[in-house]
Amino acid sequence: MKQILIISGKGGTGKTMLTASLASLAKNKVMVDCDVDAADLYILLKPKIIERFDFIGGKKATKDEKKCVKCGKCKQFCRFNSFDDNLRIDSTACEGCGFCKIVCPVDAIKMVDNISGQYFVSDTKYGDFVHAKLGIAEENSGKLVAKIRDVAKKIAIEKNADYIIIDGTPGIGCPVMASLAGIDLAVIITEPTVSGIHDMQRVIELIKHFKITAKVVINKFDLNLENCEKIKLLCSENNIETIGLIPFDSIVSKSIVNCMPLVEYSDGKISQEIKNIWNKINCKN
Ligand code: SF4
Ligand code: SF4
Repeated sequence: MKQILIISGKGGTGKTMLTASLASLAKNKVMVDCDVDAADLYILLKPKIIERFDFIGGKKATKDEKKCVKCGKCKQFCRFNSFDDNLRIDSTACEGCGFCKIVCPVDAIKMVDNISGQYFVSDTKYGDFVHAKLGIAEENSGKLVAKIRDVAKKIAIEKNADYIIIDGTPGIGCPVMASLAGIDLAVIITEPTVSGIHDMQRVIELIKHFKITAKVVINKFDLNLENCEKIKLLCSENNIETIGLIPFDSIVSKSIVNCMPLVEYSDGKISQEIKNIWNKINCKN
């Protein structure tokens, strides 16, 4: 079984468009959307949710007012300023370190599980799909990404899948690290803009750090041919193969508006290019 991650240094480069089309082209696979802060692959895959689970991202402090003797030690020692002047806990500020519980002289504080999101196992016409939703202002997105990848892997092993196709998290933060762990191939999608090149460089550094094989797809390549050449040069300097050049075409946004993977919405030149990209991924791995 191969784990293929579609990744970009920033949002808006066509990552989900490419992932949905690869999900449509690949046979016998499980799909995962690791963008737990703003999941959108489900819009194109139209899942029927089979199971939903709470995600416990950590602990939060709660106080038993009847026990509290208002000594103020909890507020004094909380380095996250989670207590107001009336010694009430602001749960959004609480980082769950548990220090207030330790210093409380009357055992008035308890640490309780914090449900910081949900994750879902769904059926789609393309196969099993796992995605998640992190709660508003909640953290621990890296842990949630690791959780849903683990769930997807178990399903893939159970069903003897050939691939896990993963829509990665944009950026280079903690959830991206969780997206990269154990990957067989990272497909970096970028665009020929100054920020696209800069963000791709940061992703390449991460990929090199994790010693992961990577291939590059340049989306809307024809919008700036000079920058497109710079990307190709950067790839060859880093021994990364450029496996696809997707031209700009309004058909892409039309397919998204119609909530369909592009390769199903159209049989035009972009669909052909994405099929070529899949053949290169499929053959060489
Ligand atoms: S658990 Fe830590 S962060 Fe939360 S209120 Fe207690 S001391 Fe502050
Ligand atoms: S440390 Fe305990 S007793 Fe003191 S104010 Fe805080 S909760 Fe109340």
